Amino acid sequence: MVRRKLIAGNWKMHKTVAQSVELGQAVAAGLKRNDVDVLLAPTALAICPLSAAMAGSKILLAGQNVYWQEEGAYTGELSAPLLKAAGASHVLIAHSERRQYFVETEKTANLRIRAALKHGLKPILCIGESLEERELNQTEFVLESQLAGACAGLGKSEAVQLILAYEPVWAIGTGQSASDAQANQAHIFIRSWLAVHYGSELATRAIILYGGSVKPANAKGLLAQSDIDGALVGGASLLAEDFLAIIEAA
Ligand code: PEP
Repeated sequence: MVRRKLIAGNWKMHKTVAQSVELGQAVAAGLKRNDVDVLLAPTALAICPLSAAMAGSKILLAGQNVYWQEEGAYTGELSAPLLKAAGASHVLIAHSERRQYFVETEKTANLRIRAALKHGLKPILCIGESLEERELNQTEFVLESQLAGACAGLGKSEAVQLILAYEPVWAIGTGQSASDAQANQAHIFIRSWLAVHYGSELATRAIILYGGSVKPANAKGLLAQSDIDGALVGGASLLAEDFLAIIEAA
């Protein structure tokens, strides 16, 4: 089956609100493809203004994280209803930087996924192995345990809404992307895990993004692979020209 490609930009802790609006508008103005979904994950501060500035455009917005409580005395946190009201339709969950610096675990990823789904936000679950784990041939074991933990207790009607992002930690922000074959092999493994746990129809439809030093120069090869349905782009999403070139490569 032909899956619609999704190209997502993760702006991390970059860009003021004004710069975010400028970049979002530049992407919207340069977008030529109607057959590709495009999503931006700006800082939480910029979601609302970007949503207003891009009203009428098809570009989707995502939070970079979500807390699982709906409301209350949780200083510094953002809930799914708040993100949704600000204009987000998606949310990144358990990005490797959150795992590395903010003690994200499979348990908290699971809680965040549930909260997102409850409030109609589509979760983009990020998984991937470290360099050491790859060198020890543990990639599939790591992916399997991350999937099992983050998806624990999720039924088919919930899992069908998940977007997966395979992001090998050693490729994020390093300039060293996984090869086309390495990335596709991991995607095939993730899809087979989904087939075993949720059935082949769901697995065939699932959108699995690749992330890790995607740039205009390597996007075409990665995005041509059988099981790569799009990209989660960090650094190269901060320049409209590069991000648009990646979209064109899809
Ligand atoms: C990311 O932040 O998810 C990412 C893949 O970053 P980069 O493209 O810079 O490697």
